[in-house]
Amino acid sequence: MMPSFNFDNTYARLPERFGTRLNPTPVQSPRLIKLNRNLADQLGLDLDELDNKTAAALFSGNLVPEGAEPLAMAYAGHQFGNFVPQLGDGRAILLGEVIDRAGRRWDIQLKGSGQTPFSRRGDGRAALGPVLREYLISDAMHALGIPTTRALAAVTSGEPVFRETPLPGAVLTRVASSHIRIGTFQYFAMREDREAVKLLADYAIGRHYPDLKSAPNPYSALLTTVQERQASLIARWMHVGFIHGVMNTDNMTISGETIDYGPCAFMDQYNPDTVFSSIDDFGRYAFGNQPRIAQWNLARFAETLLPLLHDEQDSAIAIAVEIINRFSDIFDNFWLTGMRRKLGLAIEQQDDKQLIDSLLQLLQQHKADYTNVFRALSHIAEGPATEPALNDYLPQTPDFDNWLERWQTRLDQEPGSPAQRAEAMRQVNPAYIPRNHKVEQALSAAVQDEDFSKFEALLDVLNKPFTEQPGCRHYQEPPQPDERVYQTFC
Ligand code: AMP
Ligand code: MG
Ligand code: MG
Repeated sequence: MMPSFNFDNTYARLPERFGTRLNPTPVQSPRLIKLNRNLADQLGLDLDELDNKTAAALFSGNLVPEGAEPLAMAYAGHQFGNFVPQLGDGRAILLGEVIDRAGRRWDIQLKGSGQTPFSRRGDGRAALGPVLREYLISDAMHALGIPTTRALAAVTSGEPVFRETPLPGAVLTRVASSHIRIGTFQYFAMREDREAVKLLADYAIGRHYPDLKSAPNPYSALLTTVQERQASLIARWMHVGFIHGVMNTDNMTISGETIDYGPCAFMDQYNPDTVFSSIDDFGRYAFGNQPRIAQWNLARFAETLLPLLHDEQDSAIAIAVEIINRFSDIFDNFWLTGMRRKLGLAIEQQDDKQLIDSLLQLLQQHKADYTNVFRALSHIAEGPATEPALNDYLPQTPDFDNWLERWQTRLDQEPGSPAQRAEAMRQVNPAYIPRNHKVEQALSAAVQDEDFSKFEALLDVLNKPFTEQPGCRHYQEPPQPDERVYQTFC
């Protein structure tokens, strides 16, 4: 039986030029690989009556649920710094918006659902590997407490997709608080379609930040708020070693959710220059560049809003510049707050930044594992090591011992017991991240052998990232030299 979605579509009510109405292109023989039951429940979907065959039809696009008004969204974007006036949903279709049990609104989107007028030369499809990769990493991000789009379902299509070789095709059902991107604004701004920019800005304010409606200038308030969300998001990425990999303006949401899991990856050894993406030749989107790029993207967003900021162009520019110039302070503040937490520092002191920076320098110098060092410190904060094996990941050097002493002295000034502090640190320093080699092992078993057990097991562990789980030590280990993944692909 067909579950009923609580559709209440608003994007489809916007003028025709915001997208193109069309249905997903059916696939040959869809098979359900994974369904996110918790998320489905949150969305108010009744799955009890849903058999696998219907689910596969539904989440492949073969069966369009009642109330859906499928459309491909229009957007533009700067890709690696170059402006492309028309990108749009080339392989995705927005089915519509549902209101969840708590009254919140979510986009339901199929990704890999066939060609659209925005496909350019693409086939409109997705391969199983990248679909499972997005499923795993977006679920891990959610469990880490980082704003992100979610994966509701993964289905194989029974059709090959051709990349360098034929690969099994798949469709991902993605849930987002919206799919409005900086690039959506750019699409209309570059066409000098001021009416559309204003409609979109009002729509985005109404949907994401309704309180701003009553601000003296709602549009500068929108810019300020989106900047804050983005700064907070990127800081959270930096706290866990996440590298997005394709921070193009079409991949940055107005809601502040992480979107578009392509060649993204988590860093093992700490190094700000880390790049995994096979298409990022110059390291534009390297780990340490992410804050700067976020600010650059926000400046592009600001440009689209200029006519709304002030009637006089000079004044509009002055307003935008004043806001965007605040990015570094805002970001630094979010970053420092999170890093303090990672080190168990509840009170703020002048020298904290220096303490943190010198730790990071040591990690880089000794090629230490970012995640495991902070997890080890979380245990050490309690006193004698409770997780002795993790200590192996700490640099065994006099300069690091010095740093440990400095940290201990600083901790002595903190309120609270060591046990409380360690517990708080364990809540922010994950034991498990989706390490690249583990992700690749899970995906290749799924793609090559149709063995989904590694995918399931990894997903399970990543759903409880802050708790060591029995028998899961190997998920904490960095790659052996022969397991190391150097490049990731879209
Ligand atoms: P991305 O690199 O994922 O941010 O995508 C950039 C643009 O390429 C977007 O307009 C996508 O819709 C489009 N695109 C990516 N892959 C495909 C594909 N296989 N078929 C059609 N369009 C695609
Ligand atoms: Mg994209
Ligand atoms: Mg993509």
